Amino acid sequence: MNKFVLFAAAAALVSGPTFAATLPVDTAVMSQDIKVLSSDDFQGRAPATPGEQKAIGYIAEKFKAAGLQPGGDLTKSGRSWYQNVPLAEFETEGPVKVSVKAGGRTLAWKQGEEVALRAAQTGQSRVTVKDAPVVFIGYGVKAPERNWDDFKGVDLHGKIALVLVNDPDFETGQGDFGGKAMTYYGRWTYKYEEAARQGALGMIVIHERAPAAYGWATVKNSNTNAVFDIIRKDPAKAHSPLEGWIQRDQTVQLFKAAGLDFEALKKEAQTRDFKPVTLKGVTWSTDMGVRARKVVSHNVVGILPGKAHPDERVIYTAHWDHLGVGLPDAKGDRIYNGAVDNASGVAELIELARLYKKAPPTDRTVMFMSVTAEEKGLLGSEYYATNPLYPLATTVANINMDSMNVRGRTRDVTSSGSAPLTLQDDLVAVAQTHGLTFSPDPTPEAGHFYRSDHFSFAKQGVPAMSIGAGADMEKGGVEAGRAAAEAYVKDKYHQPADEYDPNWDLSGMVQETEVLYDLGRRLATSREWPEWKAGAEFKAARDQTAAARRP
Ligand SMILES: [Zn+2]
Repeated sequence: MNKFVLFAAAAALVSGPTFAATLPVDTAVMSQDIKVLSSDDFQGRAPATPGEQKAIGYIAEKFKAAGLQPGGDLTKSGRSWYQNVPLAEFETEGPVKVSVKAGGRTLAWKQGEEVALRAAQTGQSRVTVKDAPVVFIGYGVKAPERNWDDFKGVDLHGKIALVLVNDPDFETGQGDFGGKAMTYYGRWTYKYEEAARQGALGMIVIHERAPAAYGWATVKNSNTNAVFDIIRKDPAKAHSPLEGWIQRDQTVQLFKAAGLDFEALKKEAQTRDFKPVTLKGVTWSTDMGVRARKVVSHNVVGILPGKAHPDERVIYTAHWDHLGVGLPDAKGDRIYNGAVDNASGVAELIELARLYKKAPPTDRTVMFMSVTAEEKGLLGSEYYATNPLYPLATTVANINMDSMNVRGRTRDVTSSGSAPLTLQDDLVAVAQTHGLTFSPDPTPEAGHFYRSDHFSFAKQGVPAMSIGAGADMEKGGVEAGRAAAEAYVKDKYHQPADEYDPNWDLSGMVQETEVLYDLGRRLATSREWPEWKAGAEFKAARDQTAAARRP
């Protein structure tokens, strides 16, 4: 996962009666799958490496053994187990030069220090910007369903836009964007997408610790290294030539030089009446070389066709990729095994396939897809959702698994972020039949909903969620769950130490598997179409295809 959901709040401490397991979930088999997928032999499962070949081969073999049919790309002899996912890797080449003229002075800034610019993903081999005007556009939000438009028709062609991170009501805690909770308009990915739609030459996000939810070191690491994207027909529609971040101190300095007060304008940006402000006397110059490389990675796809409505499908997903081989840790270990993140999710996905095949067939098709390049920015799922093998309009829901519970039984389940979505109500109802409560994401302002693969589906309107065990442990309660989650983040998350452990207690994964199975089965054996509720930012996209869904 991109960001571990640290711990779920014990919103409801009263748990119902615990029901006996009704499904033959096999922990020994899941344990073995995690062990193999996270072994050193798989070299951390980086996309387009020999580790990928081993990982996708293993998963396809297990799908086949479970009795699934191949559901991937069409070939001469039917469908393959794989969907090809062409990716582009972009790196800056040579020095990245940034200079800003402000108040008659020229400031030379260092890449990674004052600014962190991403290698351009537009296909250009060189980006040269000379003395471009700089415009502050508040939160950079265009949300018709909330009657909100920060752009007010400003022309951003040839200009650099400066934008605040998070959404307009993060600081006040109340307003049209869910209060503290983050909507998609708060994510930096949204800001860049909107900038491209507005035709901006560049979009620079102002880094502030609290609304970003992470420090500058994270910004630096994830933006100045190689970046990946799916290969797009028209990349300039998805990216401005210049995308990056700027430190808060430097921003304040620019505002000052233009005779503006950053804090005062930020306050204005928290209102509907905000209008973009050009920073007088401030211009931006950049020179950056870019090297691009094309690679092909793969999603692994297996299906169990529905007996009554095979053209309607429930999609389970779990990303197979991890970080590969990288910088050594204190012990000299360089292999990022990704056992919890996300061999555990893949093991659950395979186990679900086995359980479905053992049970009577469902009315709708059930699809099992292990996606690639989650760690590079949800790209395998993004590729599927923008190049779907089967229509999204008649895709009932996506249920995603990312980093599962290897710590033992809990009294609750949770989701990554909260969404106004009837699928979440279904989860609450299904969990209840297993004696489990639902704990909402305790830090919705961090925007977890937008950080795992289900989100790629949500963006296209498909009802989607990532689901996992809560933190209220049967042994030790919330305190133990919290401590274990914090220890994982500190010692193992995205580190070589995220390794298989024979002493894990997989009884929590059994609970998860049961809930995930029942939730998917409920959808696959009914006429239910889960829906976004009023105000959800993805409702409009779904509503467009309503006619394709038979009641
Ligand atoms: Zn991860």
